[in-house]
Amino acid sequence: MALADYSSALVTGASSGIGEATVRSFCSKGITVHAMARRKERLDQLGDDTGCITHQLDVRDTDRLYETLGGLEVDIVVNNAGIGRGFERLYEAKRKDIDATLDTNIDAVFHVLHALLPGMVERKRGHIIQIGSVAGLYPIKSSVYGASKGAIHLLCQNLRLELGGTGVRVTEICPGRVRTEFFDVAIDDATTREQIKDSGISDLQPEDIADAVVYALDAPRHVNVNLVELQPTEQVFGGLRFVPTN
Ligand code: NDP
Repeated sequence: MALADYSSALVTGASSGIGEATVRSFCSKGITVHAMARRKERLDQLGDDTGCITHQLDVRDTDRLYETLGGLEVDIVVNNAGIGRGFERLYEAKRKDIDATLDTNIDAVFHVLHALLPGMVERKRGHIIQIGSVAGLYPIKSSVYGASKGAIHLLCQNLRLELGGTGVRVTEICPGRVRTEFFDVAIDDATTREQIKDSGISDLQPEDIADAVVYALDAPRHVNVNLVELQPTEQVFGGLRFVPTN
């Protein structure tokens, strides 16, 4: 299977949640992993636990990002670092939260790819994993976050066209609600945050997403897993709403 063809990876947002679970999974499979995030203590612990190579970096620091990635040759890129600041309505969101979310979820992703894709194309080997979201596929009443993930959806679709014939594969993973620190970071108001977190359902776990990543990587070379959409059994999307003006 194709996973055996890959020996190295970059995982952004590696200090918690989905990124951390992915690093642990990759390292257990003998892949050399470059783990990137801002929180040093978390990265140090992950490095001690798994042997991954750590890079303490804010992905929005574009100059340092290019400096760091300039020296890397990796087979797998997991663009996972992401936040949901400005999760409330666009017209209520703070300007700095809009910037932080778009800079992290979109701009940094483009720069990671811009830095690493040329090497992959030259080597004719590589796999891009984009952690998107169901919020990029369906409206969830969060314009800033939803649009940031919607951009990732179209990025993946366009990349597959651009990379046609290079052997580089592109997979978008779209999770529903996962039990991570995401909402602790996203939402300041404690009451709202706890309401969202404690909805009484069985959330996805970060390891469920790491398993989906491995599934896509391990598909035979002639198979590109385009999109994996997974959500808790107890989470549903869609329906019809009528909202009278009040
Ligand atoms: P976490 O908050 O647990 O993890 C987010 C990770 O991103 C952390 O490691 C954080 O590290 C890193 N990160 C955030 N901002 C930056 C930055 N500027 N520079 C470097 N690293 C950064 O949440 P999740 O694991 O849930 O989130 C991972 C991805 O999954 C995100 O893209 C999110 O949008 C997506 N997702 C999450 C869902 C959920 O319900 N949890 C559902 C669908 C998608 P540090 O703070 O140390 O820098």
